[in-house]
Amino acid sequence: TATPLADGGDGHLPDGVEPRTFDGDQRLATRGEPVYGEPVQDGWRAWDPGRSKLGAMLGRGVETGFAGGDTVLYLGAASGTTVSHVADFAGPTYAVEFAPRPARDLVRAAESRPNLFPLLKDARKPATYAHVVESGVDVLFQDVATRGQGEVACRNRQFLADDGWLVATIKARSEDVTGPTEVTFGHVVETIESEYEVVTTERMDPLHEDHLAVVARPR
Ligand code: SAM
Repeated sequence: TATPLADGGDGHLPDGVEPRTFDGDQRLATRGEPVYGEPVQDGWRAWDPGRSKLGAMLGRGVETGFAGGDTVLYLGAASGTTVSHVADFAGPTYAVEFAPRPARDLVRAAESRPNLFPLLKDARKPATYAHVVESGVDVLFQDVATRGQGEVACRNRQFLADDGWLVATIKARSEDVTGPTEVTFGHVVETIESEYEVVTTERMDPLHEDHLAVVARPR
């Protein structure tokens, strides 16, 4: 499906993500149990782009490489808002989150999703989950609010198939609280480029201020 809510991008929606009408508004949606109080209609749950950077990317027509049915390693799953939508359309979805409190909700979101595997792990230490996550994943998705976001992407490259996709959302303030965001993004992208060929970078404003979306392929 060509992305219908796009404002210029020519990306494709993964199979299992569809535009549906909720209260007269077109929204992207996936099929699954609700997780964060989102509206549901005929089994389809609205994907809130204001609460999900991936939802915003797909809505804007960014090509993410997600096809539907993919094997996914998701870093920074928090309470499962976005990764629950991913698990609705993807195949095996490994969800890494190191904070115990949001991980409790993540485990709840996984109860109705047998393909969603929560891992209470630190994304900076891939060796601690290398025995669980299969290698050759199709998409490495990253949304970790931590210093060293570029390094996290590079360290987790080992799990990604050679023809896979990195989809990373970079939060400037997590790297550098005071510096100019463009400079901060430049440093992170430079680090990512040591392991990946960057395909797209796109600012996520206004829905996600001071965030940069990066789509890249492994070198
Ligand atoms: N991706 C989530 C979503 O869209 O539903 C939101 C993620 S939130 C912005 C960032 C998360 O990264 C937080 O839950 C935080 O605990 C987690 N995080 C930060 N550093 C991490 C690390 N080193 N390993 C694992 N998780 C980390």
